[in-house]
Amino acid sequence: MTIKTFTLALALSAGAAAPADAQQLGAADTGQILATVTRDAPALSETALQIWKYAEVGYQEAQSSALLQQRLTAAGFTVTPGVAGEPTAFVASFKNGAGPVIGVLAEYDALPGLSQAASPTRASLGGEAGHGCGHNLFGAASSYAAIAVKEWMVRNKIAGELRVYGTPAEEGGSGKVYMVRDGLFRDVDTVLHWHPGNTNSAAQGPSMANISGKFRFHGRSAHAAGNPDKGRSALDGVEAMDAMVNLMREHIPDRTRIHYVITKGGKAPNVVPDEAEVYYYVRHVDPAVVKAVWAWVKQAADGAAMGTQTKVDVEVTGGVYSLLPNAALMAVMDRSLHAAGAISWTPEETAFAQQIQTTLAPGAPPLASVGQIQRATIVDDALGGSTDVSDVSWVTPTVGLSTATFVPGSAGHSWQNAAAAGSSIGVKGAVLAAKTLALAAADLYRNPATIAAAKKEFAGRRGAGFEYKAMLGDRKPPLDYRKTAEE
Ligand SMILES: [Zn+2]
Ligand SMILES: [Zn+2]
Repeated sequence: MTIKTFTLALALSAGAAAPADAQQLGAADTGQILATVTRDAPALSETALQIWKYAEVGYQEAQSSALLQQRLTAAGFTVTPGVAGEPTAFVASFKNGAGPVIGVLAEYDALPGLSQAASPTRASLGGEAGHGCGHNLFGAASSYAAIAVKEWMVRNKIAGELRVYGTPAEEGGSGKVYMVRDGLFRDVDTVLHWHPGNTNSAAQGPSMANISGKFRFHGRSAHAAGNPDKGRSALDGVEAMDAMVNLMREHIPDRTRIHYVITKGGKAPNVVPDEAEVYYYVRHVDPAVVKAVWAWVKQAADGAAMGTQTKVDVEVTGGVYSLLPNAALMAVMDRSLHAAGAISWTPEETAFAQQIQTTLAPGAPPLASVGQIQRATIVDDALGGSTDVSDVSWVTPTVGLSTATFVPGSAGHSWQNAAAAGSSIGVKGAVLAAKTLALAAADLYRNPATIAAAKKEFAGRRGAGFEYKAMLGDRKPPLDYRKTAEE
């Protein structure tokens, strides 16, 4: 078996700068945009906190999606709900003649097990889920950014189309992948997104491509002491597969991540288990490596089934690319962030954050960091999580932003983040994100040369002859993936 060598990092370091003729957005445009977002900040806050209360998990975000659709419809967007076979996805569009098509992503799914009050101590609200990744802020800020841009387009007779993509099930449901696969981004010139975080930054990191799936082994049950020769253990199949995969680790490209949990392994030691299941993730920053290692993992499963006289089948449940950065767009996002201003907390917010910090591991950054803007760079070797925004970034030039919505030092997917996402601290970060995204979109409508430069850079990074193929193949969206206890 051959594994393609790691080529992506090299491609990533060859970033193009913003074109020399790019204009800073004028004072009048900047003033209009900022004034509209400031005017709408109370509505943004109300929307974000309502979605925080709904706390709906992947593909079940009916109320959250409907609320954003309602706000966008009221602001003059035309909404198409239920796109890509996902009932809670939508596309909201505002057309103002022929011109650039700019998309803004909006997420709104919550995480199971993270029900949490907006308090600085651990206190469940008694619900099933909570916004430990801050997607309530994500969806609301993106929508109100678009509302401000639309108003500015009308007032200044700016030609083009503006779209909000309502993208469900980011957390493990790969919601955007199905939207990309259905071609919903085919005619978009540029996509903007952001994510709640601990810092204010337009830095771009690649994230990790991944494929995840469940290997189900089928054997024959028998009395484990009376008739062991009549049984064939499905759990043996799982264990043999895991052993082989653990041996593989020495021989696969550096920085590959493989993790698994055994989700079914039998019920009683005196019954040879006839059904067993193991759930795998394979990650690497290069999608080609992920595909190659996944193929090898499947061979380990087949070998394990043969050696234990069991049968195995696999269901790929998720798969995403790594994030493709764009230096030309990063420059626009960075100057928009600087123009949007800084975050400052009230004494009450500072006290809330200080109390949260007492629950964190030592060494948390100072709270003053939320008032600063980090240097914008392209991080070409980041490890960590995966996101379905990545698939969008391989079909259209895409740029992200982080703002400080959480208390510095908090972990991702934590009750501390769920608490901040439901408080004025989270909302302040979301308002900064809305201002920045709106300024960035306006900047791009005013500077089509930047879009052209971003496209040229995008083509170079993606490489010649690239054809998008979803990492998860042709499966349908797993609409019930959060309905089973095992998830
Ligand atoms: Zn998350
Ligand atoms: Zn997230």
